Amino acid sequence: MLYRADFHVHSCLSPCASLEMSPDAIVRKAKEVGLNALALTDHNCGFNLPAFAKICERRGMECLYGMEVTSMEEAHILCLFDDLESALEMGALVYDSLPDVPNQPDRFGDQPIIDENEEILGFADKFLISASGFDIGSLVERVHALDGLIIPAHIDRMVYGVIAQLGFLPAENFDAVELTARGDPALALGYPIIRNSDSHDLGGLGSAHTDYELESLTVNHLRKVLEQRRA
Ligand SMILES: [Zn+2]
Ligand SMILES: [Zn+2]
Repeated sequence: MLYRADFHVHSCLSPCASLEMSPDAIVRKAKEVGLNALALTDHNCGFNLPAFAKICERRGMECLYGMEVTSMEEAHILCLFDDLESALEMGALVYDSLPDVPNQPDRFGDQPIIDENEEILGFADKFLISASGFDIGSLVERVHALDGLIIPAHIDRMVYGVIAQLGFLPAENFDAVELTARGDPALALGYPIIRNSDSHDLGGLGSAHTDYELESLTVNHLRKVLEQRRA
């Protein structure tokens, strides 16, 4: 089956994302623009993944469960799981490792945790944009131990991309690297390339995606297809 996927999308939980980004609004818009696979990847936690899981089931959208972790090096790294429990476990580890810096909603925006009916359950207290306690190497190890995919995000960006932060793309056991819509493939140094929208508002959905021919949407099938794209 052909999956047209966007595996990098932020919900209203991310302080930098628009409050319109409820899981339900995201999934409805994604269908409208022709996507049939999605991942929710909020910064450094997975608090809105349970609502996302219920909405995807309700609306017949296939999905992965993820997060965009800020490594100790301040590089953004996507972690993707096909199993909600593993994603929640990783999300809790990453959130617990964040410094005790509270969010300042007036400056940075709210961080609402919502349910599938868009009721606010609470707010994430810690500022989600801080660097986590995981360096890149320990992140790779932990995500693979939980059978997830690890993919440095927007490596062509001048801010929070791994190349911008380190000055080079490290030789790690990454499953792929992510480029923005117009990012230069030469930057990937042979790693499999995926592109996603990194949407923070509904208008961003559909602005970048990647097609995958898969038997079904699982991490194992994805890993095999990505492996074939390694240069
Ligand atoms: Zn990012
Ligand atoms: Zn992002």
